[in-house]
Amino acid sequence: MHANPSLREHVRAKAENRPGVYRMYGPGEELLYVGKSVRVRTRVLSYFRAPKGEKAWELIRETARIEWDYVPNEFYSLIREMKLIQQRQPKFNVRHKRKRIFAFVKVTSEAAPRVLPVSRVTEDGSTYYGPFPRVKALAHTIRELSRTLELRDCPGTTPMFFDDQLEMFGSGRVPHCIRAELRTCLAPCCGRPTAQAYMDRIELAKRFLEGRAERPLAELEEQMRSASARMDFEYAAILRDRLERLQSFRDQLVAFRGKVEGLTFLYRVPGFAGDDRLYLIRRGRIRKEMAHPKSRRARARVARAIDKVYGDLDAGPSALSPQDAAEILLVARWFRLKPKERKRTVEPDVWLSEKVPAGASSPTP
Ligand code: SF4
Repeated sequence: MHANPSLREHVRAKAENRPGVYRMYGPGEELLYVGKSVRVRTRVLSYFRAPKGEKAWELIRETARIEWDYVPNEFYSLIREMKLIQQRQPKFNVRHKRKRIFAFVKVTSEAAPRVLPVSRVTEDGSTYYGPFPRVKALAHTIRELSRTLELRDCPGTTPMFFDDQLEMFGSGRVPHCIRAELRTCLAPCCGRPTAQAYMDRIELAKRFLEGRAERPLAELEEQMRSASARMDFEYAAILRDRLERLQSFRDQLVAFRGKVEGLTFLYRVPGFAGDDRLYLIRRGRIRKEMAHPKSRRARARVARAIDKVYGDLDAGPSALSPQDAAEILLVARWFRLKPKERKRTVEPDVWLSEKVPAGASSPTP
């Protein structure tokens, strides 16, 4: 099958060379691909010239319809593209995705939740923390955390019975693995803990992952001390290694909090045909997009938005929705790859304190 020539003519006739996001649909109206470009016309037409066998050639061969929207700037095209890909999971974006270098920690929404390292965030009712680098090391650390807090890590299909349910299901159940005997798991598979006792441990794990609880570390220290006191030095050494790993993970959590905290500012982006935009970014997430103010009244509107976005007390990064995580990663990456863009940012209180020169539109950013 060859690319549809009338499709190319349609793009040639209608598309403009300005920033935008385009979508390619298959014959059954299924979304095949979402892309972005600062020059939509040139980019979309380039697919029709792709050499045989390449991804672009394969894609355009399957495309029956193309549509696009214009956006004011490249930054926003990235955000819009990411959101569309996340919501719709187009076949070609998913198949050709880049290797993931970040990992997340997932707390499942099961009756007896598990804490697991994962490489992708999905809408499954779970709570996610991260992103963290180095998936392999993370897997190790999460295992230590589960052992320290005596949380289960068995398959999701393992049946769970809490102590307060045993009357219903009958007592005398036996644990499904050795962790119950080693006392590294509360063993909800055989009804040892109450549902509340297990969920208290899960809450503690969540607080630790938010960088708000030191108790898992304190508990390990205590266990290490008592192992040494009873001269069980081998076990004390195992606990010391475990403690060191959890401490370094805690340090990573703190560093991540700091990094996300640093992504809090107003960001002015020059737009196509003078459509300059102002993005109110708090902890790596775009909380509001506005036209850059050109009058005192518009500036007052921005001031009210600043008050709303940055004014409330926010305890800091905690659990992330999949969209939040992807957005933080994207915003962080944007400023990492384009450090000069930082010059267009300003802290909210600095923006508010800047005086607007009489008759002028507005100061920086
Ligand atoms: S002891 Fe039971 S609940 Fe804990 S990990 Fe093993 S099978 Fe799962």
